[in-house]
Amino acid sequence: MLRSGAQQPLPLDIAIGADGRILAVGPKFLEGAEQIIDLDGKLVVPGLVDAHQHLDKSRTRQSLDNPAGTLDGASAAYRMFAATVTREDIMARAKRTLNACLRYGTVAIRTHTNIESESEIRGIEAMVELREQSRTRMTLQVVAHLTGDAPRKLDAARQWLAAAITAGVDAIGGVPQYADEPLAFLDLLFEFAERSGLPIDMHLDEHLDAGRLLFDAVIERTRAHGMQGRVTAGHCCALSAAAPHEAKRIIAALAQAGIAVITLPAANLFLQGRDAAQLAPRGLTRVRELLAAGVTVAAASDNIQDPFIPIGSGDLLETARWTLTAGHLGLVDLPQAFALISTNPASILGLAKPWGIEPGARADLLITDCENIDDLVASGTPDRAVLVGGQLVAGTL
Ligand SMILES: [Zn+2]
Repeated sequence: MLRSGAQQPLPLDIAIGADGRILAVGPKFLEGAEQIIDLDGKLVVPGLVDAHQHLDKSRTRQSLDNPAGTLDGASAAYRMFAATVTREDIMARAKRTLNACLRYGTVAIRTHTNIESESEIRGIEAMVELREQSRTRMTLQVVAHLTGDAPRKLDAARQWLAAAITAGVDAIGGVPQYADEPLAFLDLLFEFAERSGLPIDMHLDEHLDAGRLLFDAVIERTRAHGMQGRVTAGHCCALSAAAPHEAKRIIAALAQAGIAVITLPAANLFLQGRDAAQLAPRGLTRVRELLAAGVTVAAASDNIQDPFIPIGSGDLLETARWTLTAGHLGLVDLPQAFALISTNPASILGLAKPWGIEPGARADLLITDCENIDDLVASGTPDRAVLVGGQLVAGTL
């Protein structure tokens, strides 16, 4: 099949005001501007949005091992480490990853930060501090992530969650599959979300066992608490294990309940399916079907160089390419793959509207030498400059 060439973007001028927001976008109107930067026809796109990371665990690869290469192995390894980790160490590693992401064009990160017996809310306090320190360069959102033994200790989880909310987190979540009573744990999350007004962003069914799915329980509670549009489910790997008709029913219900889904191809390709004797599964959720049903889907980095996966550069264009490949998107889906790391996660994070390249939006922009969006996703150029609030924060112009 022949396809027509990718649409070439029109040459436009972008006027940025003193407040760092876009004033206007249009053909040739910049005479009289205080400063003019001639980009010589380079491609300008909105800055990238990483909707799911773990900055607190980032770059612990050298200190930890996960011989089995599984999710449980990674979780156990990090818990041993978490008992002694200091706030300074968390901050130093997180800053290094944040800066790497910024250089690749990421302007917003939502970071799931561990709460469990070993670290309690130490990581949360560090990430909230980092969020404030980085405010002019990166939009950081901190999720109170009840993991390890926290989903099994509901009384302690309540106290930690209350303390995390007081510390100023942006969302709450955790891992219901680690709970002895997953439904009671979900009830706790929804109760706190309703009371605090915070959105929920949880790790949902990050396994490949179709016999223990929590999708319906989350959908029910989303409806019952009136939280449509404010619940996000990361991973959702087990949706791929469900029978096609069952998966179709769940996906339709997710769409109807306005639950967003984030796929994390790096960690799920690494962690899932290791027990398969042949034809190991890909471990990702049903990306294509979710998109086709109108679910808001994003693709994100997840872990970067820790026991959950030892690699990761922080380049979201890599994540887009992995999702396209492992999620079986098509030849014409390069713009769709770009939406997974830009428009869609911006909507999930509720980033200030308007967002993107339009008047009123903050001038958080990625500038590259690519021909168009297709070329940007396919080639993943090293030539990148990043503006945040109209100021150059990485690369050169
Ligand atoms: Zn995660």
